[in-house]
Amino acid sequence: MADGMLGSVARKLRLFGFDVEYRRDDEDEKLVEACLREGRILLTSDRRLWESANKRGVRALLVSGEDDEDRLFEILSGLGVESVSGDTPRCTVCNGGLVKVEKEEIRGKVPDGVLERNDEFYVCESCGKVYWRGSHWERIDELIDSLNKRLKSRAS
Ligand SMILES: [Zn+2]
Repeated sequence: MADGMLGSVARKLRLFGFDVEYRRDDEDEKLVEACLREGRILLTSDRRLWESANKRGVRALLVSGEDDEDRLFEILSGLGVESVSGDTPRCTVCNGGLVKVEKEEIRGKVPDGVLERNDEFYVCESCGKVYWRGSHWERIDELIDSLNKRLKSRAS
């Protein structure tokens, strides 16, 4: 469960395949209750929220990094994650699972140029958003490589 200030971090964690709820407008108390109900770990950059979650018995990570990569590294190492990958991404919009689809299934749903230039397509099972591994994915791969190097050097 990511707090309202960690939207960009939440979307990246979803791309790495983590089941991340992100609620921008919820009050602190509601976030803590949802964590209790759904058995989620709270990610927050708000020390007061972190303290109140701890008091209620919710596992919470206080995130203080300067940029997304630092924040992600804090979270992943705090959770004891040894490496991440982009092989089983979840939907950045709704956290739904993505299923691989053939080009023909999405013809008309994405621009023809995108269909021509790419071969790997996914559709969100929940909201129907179409994803493809295009040039924008290189930045994600770079982020994954960099995080994995940091996680590895931390482990050794
Ligand atoms: Zn979705």
